[in-house]
Amino acid sequence: SKPTVAIVGRPNVGKSQLFNRLAGKRLSIVEDTPGVTRDRLYAECEWRGRVFSIIDTGGIEPSNDNEILKFMRFQAETAIHHADVIIFITDLRTGVTASDMDVAAMLQRSGKPVVLAVNKCDKPGQPEPEFYEFYNLGLGEPFGISALHGYGTGDLLDEAFQYF
Ligand code: GDP
Ligand code: MG
Repeated sequence: SKPTVAIVGRPNVGKSQLFNRLAGKRLSIVEDTPGVTRDRLYAECEWRGRVFSIIDTGGIEPSNDNEILKFMRFQAETAIHHADVIIFITDLRTGVTASDMDVAAMLQRSGKPVVLAVNKCDKPGQPEPEFYEFYNLGLGEPFGISALHGYGTGDLLDEAFQYF
């Protein structure tokens, strides 16, 4: 069956923006029910001739810190069980947070392939100094992306595809 890529990360890091950008390369939308289409969580995509499924694990997310961590842990567990590769997405502007560290450790322990994305790297070229702190998550080399402008998303998918 098709490889599945899950996007995991805190509220507001840009999961939906990345999902929509990748789903822009879609073949078909599975959820065609009215009301579901507006905040689509699942799409079938194609990149370099390969078909895969992509899941946005977000949706309606809590705003209270304690609830956020619980929600993220649940998202991560679900992704660990159901995805072939996880894209863990973080935010250059907020830097590494305690919940990022917590979930990164969970993902790392799972042994599941994880690709680390640092979103909102809106200026192409040299990474900003803040970029380097994301190495502390222990998930290997971070990929700087801008889900908004599309920078770096191809390299991110190429990295994820190594695990298919
Ligand atoms: P989610 O909660 O993780 O699904 O995050 P969203 O995709 O809803 O994005 C949260 C906010 O960040 C929105 O205001 C987006 O417009 C903004 N955003 C997402 N990606 C980028 C990016 O690459 N650069 C910038 N500057 N803003 C972004
Ligand atoms: Mg979202």
